[in-house]
Amino acid sequence: MADGRIPDGDATDEALRRALRRAAEEARPRPEFRERLREGFLEGSLVPAVPDAAPAPEAAPAPAPAGRVLPIPRWLAYPAAAAALLVGLSVASSLRPEAPFDPPVASPPALSPAEEAMVAAERRLVADPVLGGRTWQRRLVGERPWLFPAEAASADAAEVEVISRAMADADATLRRLLEGAPERAALPVVAVVAPTRSAFEAHAAPLIEPLPLSEYTIAFGLRGPRVLLIAPETLAPGGPPCEEMDIVHEAAHAWLHARMDGAAPLPLWLEEGLADGVSMRGMDAREWCRKLIGALRGAGLDPFSAKQVLETEGIAGAAEVARQAAPCDERPYSLLPAFHAHAQSLVMFLLDEEGGRRERFLGWFGRTLAGERADADGTARALGFENADALIEARDAWLGL
Ligand SMILES: [Zn+2]
Repeated sequence: MADGRIPDGDATDEALRRALRRAAEEARPRPEFRERLREGFLEGSLVPAVPDAAPAPEAAPAPAPAGRVLPIPRWLAYPAAAAALLVGLSVASSLRPEAPFDPPVASPPALSPAEEAMVAAERRLVADPVLGGRTWQRRLVGERPWLFPAEAASADAAEVEVISRAMADADATLRRLLEGAPERAALPVVAVVAPTRSAFEAHAAPLIEPLPLSEYTIAFGLRGPRVLLIAPETLAPGGPPCEEMDIVHEAAHAWLHARMDGAAPLPLWLEEGLADGVSMRGMDAREWCRKLIGALRGAGLDPFSAKQVLETEGIAGAAEVARQAAPCDERPYSLLPAFHAHAQSLVMFLLDEEGGRRERFLGWFGRTLAGERADADGTARALGFENADALIEARDAWLGL
């Protein structure tokens, strides 16, 4: 006992070492928890990555090399104290290790908005008849949140980058266009990769009926789950390239959906006008609208009255107006672009800094996101015009028609 060790030796030493290691692992705080959680996010899971072997905790005693005795404080070596410690530790190890020993500071870290958006989107998708009942890999790509099907093995990094950039473009352009509108808290738009093309179409096709879904349509802003749904084939290595302008357009829809209250859709002209305005930025959209509406009116072919521009609901509604006026039965929807020209030019007119309409429009926009709805004349009055016809006439004059 000259050196303070227990005289009868190896077996007791070994038991003490094991008990101390176990106690240290169970009882010590876990500063690496946040780091593992963050890595889990980047690797596609919120569950912290569990290493194959328990890592040596930073502050715990280093594992004793074979043949060496763990440095034990001298007082622990007295048999009575050691016996009491072993009894205590054996009781502790029979309990669930995490619950009683987790220190209060080890609560999960606050999530970033992108991380929170992924968690919220995943929760909404649970109830989705097509996309529910599956697990997702969570990824951040250039700070944009993505959900990939758990089984997805790889994705074309260049396409993922293009789509992430388009989402960022839509976000930045809408913020700029709508600067001064009442703030509405919203999480970032989440891109969700459909597990199959048919799952993508099951969502997208009904939204544009009776129009056919083009094979080149690879993104859709879904109002229900409030996500940007991406068709998987464009992300397959060597798959068809995606059209950035379409993605920006759909990301703009998703951005608006993220800020809406209630289940009622936004007025179609507002959604399409803003989405077109964002995706056609940099082009002379005012001139395109002037020429298209002017040419159609010149030929007596503009199917949309002021009331129809302001009250038409859903693409199906606009398609039906176009079909009834179609000059050729074989091409029933050839006049549908007129709706987009009306919608986009109306939004541009109302957002124009000149003319004192902008502030009124932004206030109305905020109330509309919050659920306020009105008929065509009511909308026009809320925007400062006598009625729907007066609003469209003022827009026509602005266009130079
Ligand atoms: Zn659209």
